[in-house]
Amino acid sequence: MEGRTAAVLLAAGKGTRMESQVHKQYLEICGKPLLYYTLHAFENSSVDEIILVTGYGETEYCQKEIVEKYGFTKVKAITEGGKERYHSVHRGLKAVKDCEYVLIHDGARPCVTAEIIDRASLGARTYRACVVGMPVKDTIKVSDEEEFASVTPDRSRLWLIQTPQAFEYSLVLKAYEMLMSSEQHQEGITDDAMVVETMTQEKVKLIRGDYSNIKVTTPEDLEIAALFLQKAFK
Ligand code: C5P
Repeated sequence: MEGRTAAVLLAAGKGTRMESQVHKQYLEICGKPLLYYTLHAFENSSVDEIILVTGYGETEYCQKEIVEKYGFTKVKAITEGGKERYHSVHRGLKAVKDCEYVLIHDGARPCVTAEIIDRASLGARTYRACVVGMPVKDTIKVSDEEEFASVTPDRSRLWLIQTPQAFEYSLVLKAYEMLMSSEQHQEGITDDAMVVETMTQEKVKLIRGDYSNIKVTTPEDLEIAALFLQKAFK
């Protein structure tokens, strides 16, 4: 693929919903830390360089216990994240050197594959901005304040959004710079597409990820991820 591509891997979350002393990115799945699997997929994809965004005071641990231990050669920088996900993304984007395209990925999605990553990279070249996701299988309802059903959107148009989210680097950097300097837009930002949609005129294309590309958030997700990873690494 033409043009250099960077990946910003986010691993600076506290993972409070995991109810574990160990931050979720370091919890073990089949004998290796969760973050190992995420890095492995990117190392084996067409991505040229990886920026790893870790929690406060964790850069050295990540360098020694994950990057060096498992020999990930594409990791070019390890940087500390910030309070909210979008702070961490902004820091990661600023650490990118000389790339035309960037993929932003939740470190907590270890079942991502090189195939999904390459599809997202291609999407960035075709559409300038794309996110991977999958059509929802369940009916989704919006609740009112008392948790009564208020709206049932047309299911055929609803997608579950995953990562990677892939962009032309200059486009997404500009969107994030605008976000950081505009306090009124910062509430409720949960993904990168939202930043590009809110701050620029660019349309964001939805492309297919995989139903197995789950985000490990609560303890049962860890068991599900282990099943998928056992299959993939067999
Ligand atoms: O909190 P959430 O589940 O949306 O987090 C998604 C990803 O963003 C996780 O991989 C987490 O480590 C990362 N994150 C981060 N910095 C934060 C919050 C979340 O890097 N401040």
